[in-house]
Amino acid sequence: MIAMAFYELRLAEPAAFPLAEKMLLVAAIVASLGVFAWRLRPIARNVWGSKKDTDFSLRPVGTRVWTFFWEVLCQAKVIKQRPLPGLAHAFVFWGFLAFALVTLNHVARGFGVGFLQYAGAFGTFYVVFAAVWALLVAVSIAGLFVRRFVVRPKWLGAKVSVESGVIAGLIFWLMATYLAALFVQDGGAAALGLWWVHTLVLLVFLPIIPGTKHLHLVLSPLTVFLKRPEFSQLPKLEGDEDFGLVAGKDLTQMIALQAYSCVECGRCTEHCPASTTGKVLNPKEIVLGVRSYLNENGPGSEMVLLDGAQPALSMEAAFECTTCGACEFQCPVGVQHLPVLIGLRRGAVNTGAWEDKYGTKLFLALEKQGNSLGMSSAERDKFIAKQEFPIFDGSQEYCLWLGCMGSYDPKGREIVSDFARVMRALGTQFGVLKKEKCTGDPARRLGNDLLFGDLAEQGLKAFATAGVKKIVTICPHCVRTMATDWQEYGVAPELEHHSEFMARHAHLLPKQVGENIVYHDPCYLGRYRDVYDEPRTVAATAGDLVEAERHRERSFCCGAGGGLAFLGEESGERVSHVRAKELVATGAQTIGTACPFCNTMFRDALGAVGGEAPPQLLDIAQLVARGLAERSEDADVTIGDN
Ligand code: SF4
Ligand code: SF4
Repeated sequence: MIAMAFYELRLAEPAAFPLAEKMLLVAAIVASLGVFAWRLRPIARNVWGSKKDTDFSLRPVGTRVWTFFWEVLCQAKVIKQRPLPGLAHAFVFWGFLAFALVTLNHVARGFGVGFLQYAGAFGTFYVVFAAVWALLVAVSIAGLFVRRFVVRPKWLGAKVSVESGVIAGLIFWLMATYLAALFVQDGGAAALGLWWVHTLVLLVFLPIIPGTKHLHLVLSPLTVFLKRPEFSQLPKLEGDEDFGLVAGKDLTQMIALQAYSCVECGRCTEHCPASTTGKVLNPKEIVLGVRSYLNENGPGSEMVLLDGAQPALSMEAAFECTTCGACEFQCPVGVQHLPVLIGLRRGAVNTGAWEDKYGTKLFLALEKQGNSLGMSSAERDKFIAKQEFPIFDGSQEYCLWLGCMGSYDPKGREIVSDFARVMRALGTQFGVLKKEKCTGDPARRLGNDLLFGDLAEQGLKAFATAGVKKIVTICPHCVRTMATDWQEYGVAPELEHHSEFMARHAHLLPKQVGENIVYHDPCYLGRYRDVYDEPRTVAATAGDLVEAERHRERSFCCGAGGGLAFLGEESGERVSHVRAKELVATGAQTIGTACPFCNTMFRDALGAVGGEAPPQLLDIAQLVARGLAERSEDADVTIGDN
């Protein structure tokens, strides 16, 4: 019966239009397109007139096509990260695609050249197909309207967006007029009235788009396709005159395009550890601040970006970012916040505008001692000797990279020692470099590219001189910096995080039972390297895994990244405390970490928020090492072949 009723559905259309109505239609279309173009022009001028992205390349095209298919056509990211509103948004988007043919035919009908024959098989199918989409779009847009104007999640901001309400109303009317035309007489006055209402709604809708957040309808497919393929990909500074993002003249076309694509959904802010712990930084406002700057000053302006006319673009905000990447990961329209935030830091550091005693101390420590903790390299020598770590001489398979934390921090040293025990037990041949300097990670994230470049070049030279082919390390920051950021200066040897190394040997690791372990995903291993399963595989050999409410790609930062571990006191609530509370709330006996920075942050945080019996805090290497038999005096315990 229902199938029959659907089959009988016909879309009522007006009879032929007289010449006067056709002329009216032409005038309305010209006016609509004219206003659309007039409103779009300054935006296009601002994007096109911005500085060229000299590092831009369409390659890898395959990755771009896949991202476009997955994120735009499938709306997969939007749905995965916010299932209900995401699905509602996806229905509106898919509905627009389904309606493209209906809309073209609708306008063509006004000129007597409609091409969809609603009496034919395809036409009959398409009427029903579009009707289903019209229903889904109408319900979805009504739901999104209620969410935005009644529920009002705080991430959307305090300002009520009238234009959003108008747009939602117009979309609803487009669907309603289509559906109503299924129930009126073909060629009658009602059909004519509905046709004109549908047409006028369409022609009013179009010019509203530019200059509002609904510009994302036009721009975001392009932005997603064109965005930088790497996560947190920083453009190379070009020559001695490029200081980073100092003024409007430094904003690139990519940054401008992304700023105009922002749909103001607030996902970035919702997941930002700085914003959610009461700091000044708000990644959505950073993007909107760039947009307002361009609107007010245009590209090429000499007016400073930080601490200028846009309150969101403040020095304080720029240096509160932990570079956790949650904003960039979450953004549904391809906005990449990190090149902007770190670009602003570059501008502030390179022009001397950023004055911070902790920052100065850190940079001096990196310059003089070559490590971020400012310790003498003799301390590392003593540690290596005490642990009897062999020096890498080219004969071993792996170079075990200690990093600043593994070389100088007491807990980092414990982690590296336990990981070395695991490697020895597995029979893996490794050695450490006689001398190591910081990878430059904190300098890079804080915008000091000169210092970063020096350290990267020295590191690459050290590996080449020692003949290193494979590196393994306990620090995800070191992995990221050497594998990706160093590429500006050369190619580092093959790199692995210790979680990846141990996961490959999981079948050889000792099995332990009896406790619950909650694993915390470090930002630089998860979002930056897409490594989520390996550390869990390793931790699962030592107990039963439980998950914190926010985990994997939604994991909450520990607060240490972006060089912040070395800067002074945080304002607002401590990020590490918020995360530690979440981990404690799981009731797990042990917190498993895979980054020495996370470990340090939680060590302090658990003292404050861990309660009377805080969980144990162990790196995954320590979890494994705990299960190993104690090292014998004369030989390592070997648990399997490498
Ligand atoms: S990278 Fe993290 S801390 Fe920085 S703005 Fe984005 S979400 Fe906030
Ligand atoms: S930058 Fe992206 S995530 Fe943030 S508000 Fe804009 S569209 Fe949403």
